[in-house]
Amino acid sequence: MSTLLDIEQLSTYFQTEEGVIKAVDDVSLRILQGETVCIVGESGCGKSVTALSVMGLLEGVSGTQVGGQIKFGDSDLLKLGKHELRTIRGHEIAMIFQEPMSSLNPVLTIGEQMIEPMLEHLKLGKKAARQRAVDLIAQVGISRPEQIMTSYPHELSGGMLQRVMIAMAISCNPKLLIADEPTTALDVTIQAQILDMLRQIKAESDMSILLITHDLGVVAEMADYVVVMYAGKVVEEGEVTQLFEHPKHPYTQGLLKSKPVLNQRQDELYSIPGQVPNLLELRESCYFHDRCEHCMGVCRVKEPVLKKIGDNQKVACWLYEEGVSHD
Ligand code: SF4
Ligand code: MG
Repeated sequence: MSTLLDIEQLSTYFQTEEGVIKAVDDVSLRILQGETVCIVGESGCGKSVTALSVMGLLEGVSGTQVGGQIKFGDSDLLKLGKHELRTIRGHEIAMIFQEPMSSLNPVLTIGEQMIEPMLEHLKLGKKAARQRAVDLIAQVGISRPEQIMTSYPHELSGGMLQRVMIAMAISCNPKLLIADEPTTALDVTIQAQILDMLRQIKAESDMSILLITHDLGVVAEMADYVVVMYAGKVVEEGEVTQLFEHPKHPYTQGLLKSKPVLNQRQDELYSIPGQVPNLLELRESCYFHDRCEHCMGVCRVKEPVLKKIGDNQKVACWLYEEGVSHD
C-alpha cells in the first residue's frame, strides 16, 4: 500500500499571555491508502489540534505556529496557498466533527449544502449534483432522502445530522476522511450504526480514515493502526492487535485497563488517576511521570524519545530498550 498522508515532526504551538502552549509537539505519523489510523488519548492531548493542522484550519489563526511537514501525495499541505488548500479540503480530504451542527449552515437546506461542494469540486451540473446528493443520503441509511434534501439542519436529530455530514464528506470521493470524535455525542445504538456505516463506505472505496477518539471501543472496531497521544506527543503506536494485546506504555496500559476486547464495544473505561499536565508547565521529564506507577529517577529529569521496539510498535518510555520487542 502506498503512503497517502505523511506527517513529519508536526509542531503546533499557541502563543498565549501565559506563555507558549505546545499543543502538538514533534508528532510524526503516516497513513497508507485504504488504512484507518486512530489517534487516541484523553481530551487535551493534542488529537484535535493534529487534525485541524492537517486540514489547514489553524492557518492564519493569530498566535498559532504550525511547523514540520504534512505530505499529501506530492504536496506539502503546510506550504500550499489558501486557494490550493481549499481545492484539496472538502475534495481530496474531508472532515467530520463531533458536533455536526457546527459545520452546517442553519439557514440553508441540507440539499443546498450538499450540492454546493459537488458543483465546485466535481464540476457537476445542478441536476446531476442533486441526484448524487439524494443517492448519498440514501446510502448513509436515511429512508426518505428527498424529504431530507428540503429540511433544515435543526429539523434533524443528532444521529441523522451525523449521517448527513458523512454523506456530505464522501460526496466528492475524498482520499482521506478525518473524523474527530464522530460518534461521541450520539447514543450507543446510533454510534454503532454510524461506525458500521463508515466501515462499509471504506470497504467499498479505498478511502483512508484518520479517526480521532478517546474511546478504545471505537478504536478496537475501526483501527488498523493506532497512535496514542499524551500531552501533545506520541507516546506509543502500533498495529491494533499488537497494541491491544501487548500495550507497552503505562499510559496505554492505563487506557486499556478495563480491557476493551477487539470487535466488542464497552461503555465504561477505567480512568487513570491524575490529569493531563498543564501544557504550559512541561519540563524536561516524562510528561506522564506524575501518574505513572513505574516512575523511576530518570523519568523525572529526562524525556523519553519514541523508539522502535518491535516490527510494528514504537514507544516513548524508559522501561523499554530500542530494538527489543519486550512482548
Ligand atoms: Fe512511566 Fe517512566 Fe515510562 Fe514515563 S518513562 S511512562 S514515568 S516508566
Ligand atoms: Mg478533541
